[in-house]
Amino acid sequence: MSDDFDKDIEEFIENRFYDNLAVIETENKLRINSFVKEQALLQVKMYWEKLKELAKKVTQSEVPITLSNQTTPKGRNYTIRGVVDIIKEDNETILYDIKTHDPDFVRHNKENYEKQLNIYGSIWERINQKPLDRTAVIATPLPAKLRWALHEGTQAQIRNAVTEWEPVIPMEYNKNARDGTLEEFGEIVDNIQDCKFAPPPVVVLKTKMAGGKTIFARKICHNCDIRFACDSYREYSIGRRTLSTDDLIYLIKDMGNDRDNLTFKNISFEADVQKEFEASTEQVEDITEQEFEE
Ligand code: SF4
Repeated sequence: MSDDFDKDIEEFIENRFYDNLAVIETENKLRINSFVKEQALLQVKMYWEKLKELAKKVTQSEVPITLSNQTTPKGRNYTIRGVVDIIKEDNETILYDIKTHDPDFVRHNKENYEKQLNIYGSIWERINQKPLDRTAVIATPLPAKLRWALHEGTQAQIRNAVTEWEPVIPMEYNKNARDGTLEEFGEIVDNIQDCKFAPPPVVVLKTKMAGGKTIFARKICHNCDIRFACDSYREYSIGRRTLSTDDLIYLIKDMGNDRDNLTFKNISFEADVQKEFEASTEQVEDITEQEFEE
C-alpha cells in the first residue's frame, strides 16, 4: 500500500489516541501528564510500525469470545469473556490475543497464556464451525533496547532495535486441554467468592520474575489497583524512595498542552449537555407520571 495510506493511518492513530485519552481522563476524573502521554503515543506508533503488515491481514478484529453458564465445583454459575483478533493467511486461521504484558515475561510463562488461548480457540471454533490452526500472543510493550534507542540512540540503532523486536509469540494450540483449564477457572471463582485469597508474602514481591530482571513488585504490583490497600505492598514500600519535591512540583505544574485542554473541555461540555438533557427528560417523565396519577 502507498505512503499516503501509511500517513493517513498515522494521523488516524494520533487523533484516536488523543480522543480516547480525553474520554479516559473525563470518565476517571484524572489528568495524565504530558510525559506519560508522549510515551504512550510513542508506544502505539512503534507498535503500528512493527506490526502494520500483520494488522493489514486481520480478517476479524476485536471478536468477542463468550462462554456462559459454566459451573464451579461448588455449583456457582460464571461466564468467561475475552476479545481476540483473527487472521486468515495461506489456508491457515490464526487467533491472536493482544496483551500489554512484557514479551519476555510471556515467553517464560507460555503455559499460562496457552491455557487461556485454548479456551478462546475452542469457543471460536464452536461458534464459527471452522477449525483453528494456531494461536499467538501479541505483547505490546516496547523492549528495553528499543526504549533506550528511542531516547538516546541513533536512527540506525532505532532501526536495529525495531528489527530485533519480536512482539508476536506463538503458542501451542490444544483445544482438548480446555476442560482441565475450565476446572481450574471454576476453583478460582469459588476461592474468590469464598474470600479465600491473600497477597503473596513480601519476599515474593522482592523476587525477580521468571525470564526477567524485574521483581514482582515492579512488574505486577505497580499495575495493581489495590496496591495501596495491600499489606504486602505497604510493607514492601516502607523505606523505599518517594517522590522528590521537584518531581511533585513538575506533576502539579504540568497542565497539558492546548490541544489536550481543548479536547478535555469539549468532552466535558458534551457530558454536561448530555447530563442536563437526561435530567430534564427525567423531570418531564416525573411530571407526566404525576399528571397521570392525578
Ligand atoms: S499489590 Fe496487588 S499484585 Fe501486589 S501483592 Fe498486593 S494484591 Fe498482589
